[in-house]
Amino acid sequence: MHGLMMRTPLTITSIMRHAQINHPHATIADITMDNPTHRYTYREAFERTAQLAHALAGCGLNATDRVATLAWNDHRHFELYYGVSCSGYVLHMMNPRLFPEQVVYVINHAEDRILFIDPLFLPLLEKLADKLPTVQRYVVLTDDAHMPQTPLPGAQSYESFIAGHPTAFDWPNLDEDTASSMCYTSGTTGNPKGVLYSHRSTVLHAMGCCMTDAMGVSSKDRLLPVVPMFHVNAWGVPYAAPMAGADLVLPGPKMGDGQALFELIEGHQVTCALGVPTVWLALLEYARKAGGKLASLDRTVVGGSACPKAIMDEFRDVHDVRVGHAWGMTETSPMGTINTESRRVAELAEDTRYALALKQGRGTFGIEMRIVDDKGEQLPWDGEAFGPLQVRGPWVCSAYYRQSEGQQSHTADGWFDTGDVATVDEYGYMQITDRTKDVIKSGGEWISSIELENLAVGFDGVAEAAVIGVAHPKWFERPLLIVRPEEGAEIDPDALLASYKGQVASWWIPDAVAFVQDIPHTSTGKISKRQLRERFADYKLPADGG
Ligand code: AMP
Repeated sequence: MHGLMMRTPLTITSIMRHAQINHPHATIADITMDNPTHRYTYREAFERTAQLAHALAGCGLNATDRVATLAWNDHRHFELYYGVSCSGYVLHMMNPRLFPEQVVYVINHAEDRILFIDPLFLPLLEKLADKLPTVQRYVVLTDDAHMPQTPLPGAQSYESFIAGHPTAFDWPNLDEDTASSMCYTSGTTGNPKGVLYSHRSTVLHAMGCCMTDAMGVSSKDRLLPVVPMFHVNAWGVPYAAPMAGADLVLPGPKMGDGQALFELIEGHQVTCALGVPTVWLALLEYARKAGGKLASLDRTVVGGSACPKAIMDEFRDVHDVRVGHAWGMTETSPMGTINTESRRVAELAEDTRYALALKQGRGTFGIEMRIVDDKGEQLPWDGEAFGPLQVRGPWVCSAYYRQSEGQQSHTADGWFDTGDVATVDEYGYMQITDRTKDVIKSGGEWISSIELENLAVGFDGVAEAAVIGVAHPKWFERPLLIVRPEEGAEIDPDALLASYKGQVASWWIPDAVAFVQDIPHTSTGKISKRQLRERFADYKLPADGG
């Protein structure tokens, strides 16, 4: 017997309708190249979204054709999030930091028909345009007054594209399983892989984000997603905010600019900001130098790479800001786990609570997780045992888009193998110890490079740290600590290594420190261990290492 409840489809259109009716006065403030102080309401945003839908309807697209964006976090990108998906097409948010040959690969693989481009990315695209046979139209995200000269065939400004169209649209009734958007992973080896989200997965994920023990988004919030809208849906914020009725503040191209972010937070009284650790390093450094306090900020969500203790300390002690350390990936929409304090944990001793807060957090409803051993047997949740982390749930990808070779990423019983290695403790808090391919195996035992890096970043004068395994005759591999010092800092390597004593097992302590002027990063801002391993391939450890 089936229940007798309505089967209203879970579509992105339903989020838009909800916001139009219930939160028309909530605002979006953003920075674009043509207007650094743009601001309007959700009502106005969705009226322009309707105009965009009319313009798209005249382009001769078929249902679920791909429409791509190369764009920053701003109001026009927000309109595309809704206008494209709610029309029944698939929004392909492209990462402009991919290598040019990868940009060509993903556009051709997705068979994008229209490209919406921020003026800042025109130079990148103009060089590639003759390799993009599926693209029929280029629209530049600006108005006619600011439209740059471009050789892209038939290029027009976004404002002229949508101008003159009606501000209401008869949105199609979509099946909730219809594909809505896609992102490609930023694979460091091989071609990027496409992750294809559905309306249903997007709505459920947005509801998950709003939960109190997740991002806790409410109509009292003003959210600043510093995580790009071209990388995993800006962590679902452009959907969660209209769902909850929260205001949005979008930083445009000012993503890595500490001063601009500080001024946005102050100027707009932002309550919750979300981004990767490097962004917060820039913000905190500016606040320190300027002697400013982030008074309106209630919490930050930090993820994408492990959040160093130093960042958490400074947010908490100087700015009275809660940090929710979160873990996720393109394949998980991305929210997987997030760290908030449960009642049970709140009753523990202060130092235990703080140690737990540093972990990546508990699975939200919608994400099931398990850690397994070499044979695929489930490992205990004791905070000690660590192994590959596997997840499943309604916003986890079940396969990659048009990938012909076998899906080694999924287990026979339907779990997604994340490629991360983790522990889970008795309270359910997960901690990432490594990427599977970055694990250091010394004498057959695993050493967590992430834990060693986090401790190193807390040492005076260390700006950035990475730990990789280098070959060792006796132990097979031993850890090497690579450090980029802060400008002008003199670091004593022995004192740095001695600081590990008592914090990790003695055999985890790196054998040596190498100082460098720069640490390479991937297109999504993570430390590129692959490049470091190449750079240090011939590195010889001191004779008695280990
Ligand atoms: P991406 O799909 O580019 O967002 O990358 C996802 C990967 O980033 C994950 O598989 C993890 O390896 C890493 N990651 C994400 N969040 C965290 C975190 N809080 N701590 C450590 N690693 C993280």
